[in-house]
Amino acid sequence: MKVTDLIQNNGKTAFSFEILPPLKGNSIQKAYNIIDKLIEFDPKYINITTHHSENIYKELPDGTVTKVNVRKRPGTVAIAASIQNKYNITAVPHMICKGFSKEETEYALIDLNFLGIHNLLLLRGDAHKLESDQLAGNMNQYATDLQVQVNHFNEGITADGGSFERFETPFSYGMACYPEKHEEAPNLESDIYYLKMKQAQGAEYFVTQMFFDNSKYFSFVERCRAEGITIPIIPGVKPIYKINHLTLLPKTFRSDIPEELAAELRKCHSDAEAKDVGVEWGIKQCKELIQYGVPSIHFYALMATESVRRIAKEVY
Ligand code: FAD
Repeated sequence: MKVTDLIQNNGKTAFSFEILPPLKGNSIQKAYNIIDKLIEFDPKYINITTHHSENIYKELPDGTVTKVNVRKRPGTVAIAASIQNKYNITAVPHMICKGFSKEETEYALIDLNFLGIHNLLLLRGDAHKLESDQLAGNMNQYATDLQVQVNHFNEGITADGGSFERFETPFSYGMACYPEKHEEAPNLESDIYYLKMKQAQGAEYFVTQMFFDNSKYFSFVERCRAEGITIPIIPGVKPIYKINHLTLLPKTFRSDIPEELAAELRKCHSDAEAKDVGVEWGIKQCKELIQYGVPSIHFYALMATESVRRIAKEVY
């Protein structure tokens, strides 16, 4: 079933959880452990992030330094399939442009189809950790380009322009949006221009970057609606669980921390206290979002399973 169908007519706000593939070398049990803690909240689907490889510099026994390319969290496709089979919950693997050639993307689409996975979240990926040699080549530049590739694939056209018999079930997909503007966009208007392009090209819903001030989400949704964006805009909620999130999250994700929350975090003496503040804030945020009538809440459960669990317990 498509995500847009899964989040409708549930009689209550649907939840979804986003998890990361375990670090290379770790067991899939790590992913299961997270889902086991959240399953009682009846997630309608589970997102699994994708990570590009990074160049790291390694010292060899002879003292020379060499550059190696490593993917720290491989396995998105396999994890998605395992989750879908084990829990009978729709898996939504993320696909990114950066660090993947169009052929690699196509192979992943073929694998996903074989595995019965037809829901995707299409993204660009963060470019800043990639070096120029990794950015060159046959790669999609923007999420809108990846979207075109998936659309062509749905129509039976391969990355090299060949054709094949269409698969029975086409891929449906959501894409990302940023209530506080994407860091590279010159202004919100420009970002919304590309959101309209994403919608026109077939995106069925948007998931927002994390935000801590609901008023920013509400005004963003209003602005999108005024501009003709009609598809669901699913809020992304991440609980703060460390004192350093006060500076780290605005820097990394460009998400403002409202002064009321910042003031509470400044009073904390430990991460355990910060975690409690984050949970209280998350509960308040979710209650207000549910009251506003959001169809679904996307929880960034990565590294914050316990906090997400405490929030979900209060608002489910
Ligand atoms: P795009 O839509 O390509 O937008 C990037 C910038 O370019 C924006 O400023 C936009 O306005 C502009 N733009 C868009 N289209 C065009 C165009 N055609 N021409 C010119 N400019 C354009 N990252 C990962 O690496 N792995 C993940 O699994 C992952 N999951 C995420 C999940 C969610 C819900 C969100 C919100 C983000 C996630 N990210 C992930 C991070 C994401 O990859 C970064 O935020 C990235 O910088 C932008 O991705 P995007 O898909 O919004 O890019």
